[in-house]
Amino acid sequence: MTVRVRFAPSPTGHLHIGSVRTALFNFLYARRHGGEFVLRIEDTDTNRNIEGAELAFLDGFHWLGIQWDEGIDVGGPYAPYRCMERLDLYREHVQKLLDNGQAYPCFCTDEELAAEREAAEREGRVPQYSGRCRALSEEERQAKIDAGIPYSIRFRVPENQEIVVDDLIRGHVTFNSSDIGDYVIVKSNGIPTYNFQVAVDDAAMKITHVIRAEEHLSNTPRQILVFQAFGYEIPTFAHLPIVLDHNRKKLSKRDPSVLPIQTYEELGYVPHAIINFLALLGWSPEGEEELFDIDALCSQFDLGRVSKAGAVFDVDKLNWMANQY
Ligand code: GLU
Repeated sequence: MTVRVRFAPSPTGHLHIGSVRTALFNFLYARRHGGEFVLRIEDTDTNRNIEGAELAFLDGFHWLGIQWDEGIDVGGPYAPYRCMERLDLYREHVQKLLDNGQAYPCFCTDEELAAEREAAEREGRVPQYSGRCRALSEEERQAKIDAGIPYSIRFRVPENQEIVVDDLIRGHVTFNSSDIGDYVIVKSNGIPTYNFQVAVDDAAMKITHVIRAEEHLSNTPRQILVFQAFGYEIPTFAHLPIVLDHNRKKLSKRDPSVLPIQTYEELGYVPHAIINFLALLGWSPEGEEELFDIDALCSQFDLGRVSKAGAVFDVDKLNWMANQY
């Protein structure tokens, strides 16, 4: 089996150093295992996309020497895949789910959904879609579509199914489908939501290992349901520990680790020092050595030595490393 990994940023902000770490772990894992590293720009949240963000990502990777192995052939270095150029693939998939009843149109308005949420909160229940449009007959659905009522498409989540995320870092994490509720996979503007798009793309791109930020662990059962609906092989997951500030607190917006990578370039850091520092942010090599060039990292990095605990971003350490190069 060829190891295939991906980094899949949304172009909704700058490439901060925390997300460079995610990209780097994917890149190193691919190199370590003779695998392939894919870059996929997840630009489906069109209201939040920022102009120029993709270019800034590419510049950042170029500066750091993180190369991806495939993408769109534009007669030079590959352009990354972009989800908004893959809408046909998602449409085909949605149609299959609609045809076999695993998805259905939902005509509920924002006001109706908000009222459902408020009622759940008042009664101390976890808000979850009631499934109201699940029960519509084919005729009722067609009448609403013919009347031009806007609709989203929801995934029909099976009741009471145990979903186990087998995570290389977190171990077995168990979820129950009954806690999820039928969720939207296509918005009323026809664009797929993240949890659907990401599973379709990971399957289509034959991704074997999904290595990403811990915040996505809770999304994973929704994605696993999509893999299962199509009978696709479920990749192995690895959710990386969060990055903490020197007080072991969650990073604030002003913290150095959330600065754009370009700021480090402007401040005169050498890319090498950044790579070395980020590789050790959550991963510990065997032995005491802390200085590694990229080749050494590529031959030693593995997910088995990535810790579960939050990784502390220590600027003094970064500066110390920068002085060694
Ligand atoms: N587009 C998602 C993000 O930027 C990617 C999550 C994933 O890797 O699955 O957070």
